[in-house]
Amino acid sequence: MLVSNLPQHVDIVIVGGGPVGALLAQRLLKSGHDALLVDAKHSVGNDPRALAIAYASQQSLAASGLWDESLAATPIERVHVSQAGTLGRTELNAAELDLPMLGSVVKYQKLAQYAFDQMVAGDVRLALGMKVTQIQRLARFAQITLESDTGTQKISCRLVILADGGHLIAQLTDIKQTVKSYAQHAVLATLTPKQPHKGIAFERFADDGPLALLPTGNDFTLVWTQTPEQATARLTLSDDGFIAEVEQRFADRVSGFSAVTGRASWPLALKTLNSVVGQRVVLIGNAAQTLHPVAGQGLNLGLRDAATLADVLAATPARELGEAASLARYAKLRARDAGLVTAVTDSLITLFDSSSLPLKHARSLGLLAMDQCSWLRRGFAERMVYGAR
Ligand SMILES: Cc1cc2nc3c(=O)[nH]c(=O)nc-3n(C[C@H](O)[C@H](O)[C@H](O)COP(=O)(O)OP(=O)(O)OC[C@H]3O[C@@H](n4cnc5c(N)ncnc54)[C@H](O)[C@@H]3O)c2cc1C
Repeated sequence: MLVSNLPQHVDIVIVGGGPVGALLAQRLLKSGHDALLVDAKHSVGNDPRALAIAYASQQSLAASGLWDESLAATPIERVHVSQAGTLGRTELNAAELDLPMLGSVVKYQKLAQYAFDQMVAGDVRLALGMKVTQIQRLARFAQITLESDTGTQKISCRLVILADGGHLIAQLTDIKQTVKSYAQHAVLATLTPKQPHKGIAFERFADDGPLALLPTGNDFTLVWTQTPEQATARLTLSDDGFIAEVEQRFADRVSGFSAVTGRASWPLALKTLNSVVGQRVVLIGNAAQTLHPVAGQGLNLGLRDAATLADVLAATPARELGEAASLARYAKLRARDAGLVTAVTDSLITLFDSSSLPLKHARSLGLLAMDQCSWLRRGFAERMVYGAR
């Protein structure tokens, strides 16, 4: 529900109504806490990302009214992983985990706009078109400054939750962010396959960088990691030239493509924090950790942040919101999953980015071992679907 007049005080302010902030706001409704969500935008603009959402994340969104068939998500039944130039390959499949699907692919724009619409139609108190420009924190409360077309306003609160994708982190002097640039861009594109994709996603480790193909409607969304210079060159290639380069890297793993549209490029970096909590503040989703998209885990991890924080806050009396003890409880609960998924994603890049021959053979053996060993494969797939529990 949109608020027409901003209050002077609320107990909890959530900054950012992306999928992570939205899930938290929806789940907090049950706790009865006095909360307000603010987002700088009025509606979600164009965004080229297609997101692989794990089955467990899908269930979590659905339980909070943020997922239904109107999203037209495409089920992923199998994930085929292979390395170019070697025999190394394996396949993860939903049947092995007794699930109807490993996950689904949905366009970011659709998912985020659906979340906005559900919040507007529902009970979440929402202020759109309000950009937070300043956060001030004292021992007993915090104050945020909001700017909109109609001017500047201030709101005091007990707790600020940043689900803003990481834009306001520089204002938090008690939290340090580390940025590791991969000196890589992701080239995104929509590719029409010559044969139906049958719900199979592909992860291909080519000599010059990993490529992922996510089944999206009747097409694939390509996420192709490469140097910024290669990305610039490939955005200007002819359609046929671009398709030929992708086909060459997939060899005979896919049947080929008849068309490419919507090419875009995205700079990649790993951003982590020394702490996801500080004085009267918690950071979740991309504000807490921004990962390389190679394993499609960023949003899945962020949704688990939101679910855990909602549970911790539901068990916290209003007068204790924002106090160090409950924030520390949250940070402790999230440390293992966030640490493990971040480390695995980062090491995939480091490990598969080297063209050294011994390392290439070791990677190939690793994939073959996983292919032969069902418990290893199941363990890996379970972590992709549920996170580290
Ligand atoms: C190419 C690519 C592919 C990816 N693929 C996958 C995938 O397959 N699977 C997966 O799990 N993840 C994937 N990710 C990661 C995923 O996109 C992010 O993890 C996810 O979008 C983070 O959601 P969020 O809600 O934390 O932040 P965001 O989606 O960034 O939302 C932040 C919100 O905060 C608002 N905001 C920002 N600043 C302010 C402010 N000052 N005041 C008020 N509001 C503000 C914004 O308007 C926005 O609505 C991918 C990322 C990329 C780049």
